[in-house]
Amino acid sequence: MKHQELLKGLIRLHILHHAAKEEFYGQWMIHELARHGYTLSPGTLYPMLHALERDGYLRSREERLGRTFRRIYRATALGREADKVAKVQVRELTGQGRKRRSTDRHKSGRYRRSQVENAQRRNGD
Ligand SMILES: [Zn+2]
Repeated sequence: MKHQELLKGLIRLHILHHAAKEEFYGQWMIHELARHGYTLSPGTLYPMLHALERDGYLRSREERLGRTFRRIYRATALGREADKVAKVQVRELTGQGRKRRSTDRHKSGRYRRSQVENAQRRNGD
C-alpha cells in the first residue's frame, strides 16, 4: 500500500474505533479496512494488533472455531480513551470541530488543548 508507514497511524485509529464498539477478529478487520481503502496483508495487520495489545489499547482472547482457534480483540478502557482523544484530533485536522470559529484552524492551539482535555475528562473510567 502506498504511503503505508504514514497511514499506519490512521489505520491504528480505525482499529481502535471499531474495537471500542465491538469485538473483532483479524480477518474481519482486514476486510473492514479494505472497505475504507486500506489494503493490508495479515503480515502487516497482526503485528499492529499485537503492538496495540502490548501497549494496553487492546486485549484479546481465543475463540474456538471448529478444530482451530481465532483471536478476538476488543478495546481496553485505555483504548476507548485514546479513541475519543484521537477523534477530537482528527476533527481538528480536518476542520470539523463542532464549535470552531477560527479561520486558521492549525494555529489555535489553545482551543485544541481544551478540547482534548474535555475529551479526557469525559472519559474518566
Ligand atoms: Zn470502519
